[in-house]
Amino acid sequence: MKYDNYDVAVLGCGPAGLSAAINARVRNKKVLVIGADLCSPPLHKAQKIENYLGLPGLTGGELLNRFMDHFEMMEIERTTVKASGIMEEPDGFTVLLGEEVLHARSIVIATGIPYKSTLPREEEMLGKGLGYCATCDGPLYRDKDVLLVGHSDEAEAEARFMAEICRKVYYLPLYKGSWLDDERIQIINERPVEIIGQDFVEGLKVKDGQVYNIDGLFILGGETAPDRLIPGLLIEDKHIKVNRQQETNIPGVFAAGDCTGGPYQVAKSVGEGQVAGLGAARFASRQA
Ligand SMILES: Cc1cc2nc3c(=O)[nH]c(=O)nc-3n(C[C@H](O)[C@H](O)[C@H](O)COP(=O)(O)OP(=O)(O)OC[C@H]3O[C@@H](n4cnc5c(N)ncnc54)[C@H](O)[C@@H]3O)c2cc1C
Repeated sequence: MKYDNYDVAVLGCGPAGLSAAINARVRNKKVLVIGADLCSPPLHKAQKIENYLGLPGLTGGELLNRFMDHFEMMEIERTTVKASGIMEEPDGFTVLLGEEVLHARSIVIATGIPYKSTLPREEEMLGKGLGYCATCDGPLYRDKDVLLVGHSDEAEAEARFMAEICRKVYYLPLYKGSWLDDERIQIINERPVEIIGQDFVEGLKVKDGQVYNIDGLFILGGETAPDRLIPGLLIEDKHIKVNRQQETNIPGVFAAGDCTGGPYQVAKSVGEGQVAGLGAARFASRQA
């Protein structure tokens, strides 16, 4: 068998997963991080991070490199095979990794937002004028034209925020109900069909053929519930339900970062990752 027994298995190698792994390792635990080749696609695509304490002005890629350097220094094992399932056992958990299985005493889930695309080429245009957090990227679009696609009325607050700083704000709601009434914001009552622009977003085409010329496009609130990697894991409002110790409803399973809910931010992910990593280490010690 390729994989050994671990104290802590961490699913996801974004800011939350890396923070959890480092903190469990500092507690002398045997840790495996399970993640994709490129850790944190969202952070990698962020044009500039202005709000991470002590490291202002780095691109998302640069900040991720700093995190990865720190992670490498800690000599923690990592695999790029994604986890496909977790099963509870009397003495911990079995994690399925492709054809392989591994055993861990405790688990940290830090898998970010599982996102289902609203538009074709969305993944390709992420960070090239397309984003999922208007309040994060807003300052980049000061005095420019933006269009926000809202999957729920929660997106309306972001539209109002953008109206304070942008030249023109279009809002395209994808839900039924009363939409925001704000003279600064133009409502588009159509289905979005196509992103216009190759290297950068230049416009959005809607179903009746009209093209709205814009500098930035935001798709908000379209996240789907985290995969139920573990049967019985409690989900609330599309996110994994945790308490302040980052414990889920399953003893020994912790969760951190975007998968537990907003704000979808690096600092929040790193902080939750720390609490989850320390909790998972403590749980593993009790099982030993
Ligand atoms: C364009 C853009 C701009 C942003 N700007 C800012 C900003 O200015 N400031 C800020 O604080 N935040 C910003 N963010 C948000 C920030 O990037 C996220 O909040 C942060 O990356 C979340 O970290 P995470 O570890 O929870 O999840 P992620 O970074 O999403 O990492 C999750 C990881 O889990 C992996 N994974 C998923 N499923 C599995 C599985 N089954 N098994 C193993 N691994 C799995 C994924 O491949 C991924 O590597 C921005 C995001 C975007 C997209």
